[in-house]
Amino acid sequence: GKGTQAEFVKIKYDLIHISTGDLFRNNISNNTELGLLAKSYMDKGDLVPDEVTIKMLEAEVNNHPNAKGFIFDGFPRNTLQADALEVLLQSHETEVSAMIALEVDDNVLVQRLLKRGETSGRPDDANEVVVRNRIKIYYGETAVLKSYYSNKNKYYGVDGVGSVEDITVRLNAVINTL
Ligand code: AMP
Repeated sequence: GKGTQAEFVKIKYDLIHISTGDLFRNNISNNTELGLLAKSYMDKGDLVPDEVTIKMLEAEVNNHPNAKGFIFDGFPRNTLQADALEVLLQSHETEVSAMIALEVDDNVLVQRLLKRGETSGRPDDANEVVVRNRIKIYYGETAVLKSYYSNKNKYYGVDGVGSVEDITVRLNAVINTL
């Protein structure tokens, strides 16, 4: 539910919402070269290579010079991306305020994604092998970001199980402490 919640956060706090997954999907819809490349990884549940992902993210940030702030959704996904984000934000004389993770048990996650796959039209949701690979990649590459941001006192875990409204309340409670 990170995309859904990020949209609420964007509106409430007047932020620019950048979802790397949405950017890739837009490129796929528009048949761009980047879309074609991204699709070959996304359909398997693998991460798109860092170099193209970071370049795309940087272009998007630099496109909004007057932004009050950003909510990055699905980025960073590994330490290399997190380091690149730090350098990028430093160049804009700012830094990450918080890393908020919606925490959901793996089995619940698989069921939720497969259910979404019935209607989302996302090939990476519809197939259990792909869904489980996404979770495997999460543990192999992304989970380390919990300690990465905890070490900077920037990690906030939010219980991601419950109604959309319940989770919004929990999320806002965290953001209001920042
Ligand atoms: P999402 O929309 O966040 O669920 O992302 C869907 C897919 O897009 C992921 O499984 C990856 O294949 C790709 N993707 C999204 N964000 C990133 C990222 N930061 N780095 C690499 N691949 C990404």
